[in-house]
Amino acid sequence: MVIEEITSMEFSAGLHKTRTVLLPVGATEEHGPHLPIGTDTFQAYDVCVRLAERRPVFVAPAIPYGVCRSTADHPGTIGISSGTLKALLCDVVHALYRQGLRDFVVLSGHAGGTHNAALLDAGEELLRSLPGMRIALATEYDLARGEGGAIIETAGDSHAGEIETSRMLATRPHLVKGSAPAAYPCFPRHILVRDKLPFWPSGVWGDPTRASAEKGRQIEDVVVKALERLVTELEGFVENAGRRPVGLDEA
Ligand SMILES: [Zn+2]
Repeated sequence: MVIEEITSMEFSAGLHKTRTVLLPVGATEEHGPHLPIGTDTFQAYDVCVRLAERRPVFVAPAIPYGVCRSTADHPGTIGISSGTLKALLCDVVHALYRQGLRDFVVLSGHAGGTHNAALLDAGEELLRSLPGMRIALATEYDLARGEGGAIIETAGDSHAGEIETSRMLATRPHLVKGSAPAAYPCFPRHILVRDKLPFWPSGVWGDPTRASAEKGRQIEDVVVKALERLVTELEGFVENAGRRPVGLDEA
């Protein structure tokens, strides 16, 4: 049940089937000279919609903005701050909770460290403020690992490389403008830089030349199945099933 596409009545009826909602979070950022700026948003959204075709879950509208540090100076990147992303996710989850949803799976198509830290921060705050809710947070990248590792040939492939080019060739080939040579960023390890472009001129991290639509379809299947396992796990998750620390048991 894709929330944007159903009526208010269908939403109410859907609550009798599930209390789970998938929240795709993307980014609006450069993806090399060959992939669309919405790549991360498309990937996360598509996977959520595909899972909704397999089992009853709600899919919230995708959040198309993320925290984009390394690509901030590349043409077309429109990033937001960590504070804004955290507030945005918190507001959206509060609204969905008010509508009766209780299990929240946030799927980020963007793997930036600062971005995902903001989502984690939001998740922790939401757990403290909304009784009875459960929340899981995963990146597309996490879910593609494991089985997906056998499909990918490029070591350390991450941004606009083999994986993402394959994904876009599979789902939105009309938006892929050729390919790009393999490239990697060369940021200094600990030093922060004001001007990012000279350290990552191509905006590619990996090897787009090894991409294919078939690999993209296979990786997407891996991600959809991993997301399904995560939803099942969250829906059966009992918060206090773990062992308490010894000191607390004795008290
Ligand atoms: Zn990406």
